[in-house]
Amino acid sequence: MKTRIESFADASRYAPHYPPRCGKALDEAILSTPAYQVWRKRDPGDSTGVFSRLASLSALTKHDLRTHGPGGFVPHGRSLDEGLASGQIELVNTSGTTGDRVSNVWYQPWWDASEAASSQLNSHARSLLAGGHREAILTSPWCTGFPCEDGFLTLEQRTAGRFLYLSERSDPSLWPESLMDRMIDDLNRFRPSILEANPSFLAKLARHIVRAKLRVFHPPLIILTYENPSVLHLRQIRRAFESPIASSYGSTEAGYVFMECEAGRLHQVTDSCHVDFLPLAAEHGGPDVGRILVTTFDNPWRSLVRFDTGDIVRLSRQTPCPCGRHEGLTLLSVEGRTVNLTLTPGGRAVTQGAVDRVLGNVTGLLEYQLVQTGPAAYTLGFATGEPPARQVAGEVRDVLQSLYGPAASITTNAVEAITPDPPGKYRLTRALSPIDADYLLDTRFAPQREPDHDH
Ligand SMILES: [Zn+2]
Repeated sequence: MKTRIESFADASRYAPHYPPRCGKALDEAILSTPAYQVWRKRDPGDSTGVFSRLASLSALTKHDLRTHGPGGFVPHGRSLDEGLASGQIELVNTSGTTGDRVSNVWYQPWWDASEAASSQLNSHARSLLAGGHREAILTSPWCTGFPCEDGFLTLEQRTAGRFLYLSERSDPSLWPESLMDRMIDDLNRFRPSILEANPSFLAKLARHIVRAKLRVFHPPLIILTYENPSVLHLRQIRRAFESPIASSYGSTEAGYVFMECEAGRLHQVTDSCHVDFLPLAAEHGGPDVGRILVTTFDNPWRSLVRFDTGDIVRLSRQTPCPCGRHEGLTLLSVEGRTVNLTLTPGGRAVTQGAVDRVLGNVTGLLEYQLVQTGPAAYTLGFATGEPPARQVAGEVRDVLQSLYGPAASITTNAVEAITPDPPGKYRLTRALSPIDADYLLDTRFAPQREPDHDH
């Protein structure tokens, strides 16, 4: 007998026009988009509420995106080739931290609308993102910008319209001081309305600013994106910049999905997407901690339903948020990626966020990377400023021991700096043997895995 899959969305608050938009996105996928044809047999149909319909369907994975290619997700028989030939759309490749490349259809008007919708969820962003604002960007140039790992580019070579790219180099551990001085000089002259930054990159610059006591322009808003910010990185950035800081969460595939408000919570961008929340089982941190699947609205060139972004989030239970917003999901935090999960020796899941919170309290710790090397073995590489590494090593071992339990064997290695993974993203935690996050889910909210998703 088939048991009904529960949907978390039934307990969330939405505007009256919202469920019909979800229904439209789902019908468009099931009825007129090639990649979703195999989902038809699982769809209970529109006599059932849209959230229950969505809940009974599989997750869409990056593997699915690669299998069907960008053309498989174009709805209503539109021609990908004609769209490309006319310049309406282009193809953009992403390379995730696990090295899996996906080719995505990029339709700029949809992306801009998604960004504009997200800006409504933060009052600083709302006033600044009105259009035409100057923006400085500090991230890996391989994510966006102009890479040059050998030699340096001029200001003109790093400028595109209203955007200035602060770094052509993708590894902050190798940045010379002269490069960071140039970034500060750029900020002081360019005076951007917004500084959009990868938090680990900006933290490196912030440490330089504080250490050398440099004067720097404080942008009206700093938006952190590309990476989930570590408590340590955030604290280092706050020491150097007085600007308000907001985290923006999204992806090339799904657009803008969550935006941090003035009260420090992340609100779902309900104008551009629906988010299904799949809680983890109680022993792994549920029901407040879970995975998210994103369904996008109104992209004429891309039908995306229940796309697994590969991230784990923690819900905020304080409703409404102190900022007054209450629509859709509200998060306390993004807990990191499923590929960054580790397990205790007893088999309980530990998110990157949980590791980060305990290490974030250690005085003198600048950067770290934790690797689970065996069922009960963990190695922490860490970099310190003052006090010396030996003192910090004892403290990091203690806090990790209390997190993973007495059976955990913890090794610490003091290093000069942590190097990001290609294309330039820090991975704070990971396990050498990947963890299958499907088995951590609360089964009341997750349909059985389809055989064609096992590979
Ligand atoms: Zn809020």
